[in-house]
Amino acid sequence: MKFDTLYINGKIFTSDDTMLHAEAMAVKDGRIAWVGTGEQVQTLRMEDETTRVVDFGGKRVLPGFVDCHMHAIMLADFAKQISVLPPDIYSIEDLKDAIHKVRSNQEEGQWIMGWGYDEGKLAENRAPNRHDLDAGCSDSPVVVQRSCTHIWSANSKALEMAGITKDTPDPEGGRIGRDENGEPDGILYEKAFVLVQKLLPVKTEDDRAADVADLGEILVSQGVTTVTELMENGRMNFDNVFGKAIALGLKNRVSCYYLWRILEEEPELVTDSPNLNSEGQVRIAGVKLIGDGSVAGRTAWCDMPYKPVPDDNGNIPAEPQYGIPVCSEDEIIAAREFCKANKCQLSIHCMGARTIDRAVGLTWQEKPWMDNPEVPSVRLEHVTMPTKEAVERSVKAGIAWATQPIFMYSEIESYQKNLEPERISEIYNIADWREAGVRMAFSTDAPATSWATPSEPFANLKGAVTRKAWNGEDCGQRHKVDIETAIKL
Ligand SMILES: [Zn+2]
Repeated sequence: MKFDTLYINGKIFTSDDTMLHAEAMAVKDGRIAWVGTGEQVQTLRMEDETTRVVDFGGKRVLPGFVDCHMHAIMLADFAKQISVLPPDIYSIEDLKDAIHKVRSNQEEGQWIMGWGYDEGKLAENRAPNRHDLDAGCSDSPVVVQRSCTHIWSANSKALEMAGITKDTPDPEGGRIGRDENGEPDGILYEKAFVLVQKLLPVKTEDDRAADVADLGEILVSQGVTTVTELMENGRMNFDNVFGKAIALGLKNRVSCYYLWRILEEEPELVTDSPNLNSEGQVRIAGVKLIGDGSVAGRTAWCDMPYKPVPDDNGNIPAEPQYGIPVCSEDEIIAAREFCKANKCQLSIHCMGARTIDRAVGLTWQEKPWMDNPEVPSVRLEHVTMPTKEAVERSVKAGIAWATQPIFMYSEIESYQKNLEPERISEIYNIADWREAGVRMAFSTDAPATSWATPSEPFANLKGAVTRKAWNGEDCGQRHKVDIETAIKL
């Protein structure tokens, strides 16, 4: 075969066990058509001396990364904001500088937004208040969301625009943070942030498509070639958003999952999609159901209680906390039947042992229903602490798991608050699950994790390979995986 380009002198990792490492590769029509040794490529060069040759100079080559669980549209939005997280920001002082920098690059009056802060990760060990944000910018509105997205900090300008003063009562289901004189301190809890949120410019489908196209540049620079859209909120037509983004230059392939809640009202988003199970750049892949919450938020539904923590008054609650189931068995069954009828995948968010058991219990005896037997009919998201039975049943049924070592790596402060050390060392037990034969893949869940560059794959890999958190805390050395395995996953 005549190749377009030969690449030589590389340290190429193929992810393919028939030839895991190679030194050279050849490209034809924009695709890698051949890999081989340095000796083999010499023969190719001699056969045709006109082929273009590129010398890697000993550099490492990895396959493009597939991120099988992320929120591309939300990430595209957050990518336009300040990431108030390591490895970008470690303190409120850093945040002030970042706000100042954004302000100097845009017009007066334009919003400045930030996401992801966690006081446990900030040197000052507290939430940023209005005065902190004012120090970064006082003539334009500034808002910064906490990592949980339930608490927002606003600067004086944003408070003024929202009409929040000393005399504003707390809205129902929310609280306006106040200083010792009763003045709003800029920290808005739960429903109180809506007072500011409703002033934000609303994004159209075209705005979102443009954001996604811009995100594509970041993803490609991080080596990420394929992503997923597991949107948690809002009604959106993924065929339209991603179709428009591709017209604007998006290069990544995208697989999309609609929330069951949205499909119950509008099933034609899946049934009428021209991209249902498509092999093209955009694929409508299936249905997503939320089974429980998160370990960090103490809402993943577990078989053992969370580590007790004192409430606001310093009292330990009498009742042990196990987290909460978010959907009913009937909902899982209804979504499962929809997926069977439409031959698309069922994806269930399940972190805690009880939710995992329930999701597996309601699906593992079903005959796989996808036309392509390589594609799992059921996939479970996160799967932090499965029981032995869930492992065995998942292996038997070919249920796939999308798990994220980056959670333990980047959210260690919350994990340590909520779980005992011995329990931490037994979660995300990837080496054993793989040994047992679970079909599994890694993903980042970006931007739903406490990391400034959430879609960048290497923090995730580092978490799996070192079993240490970003700050060096040990998360249980017994369950380390080697780097080759981590990259394949
Ligand atoms: Zn997610």
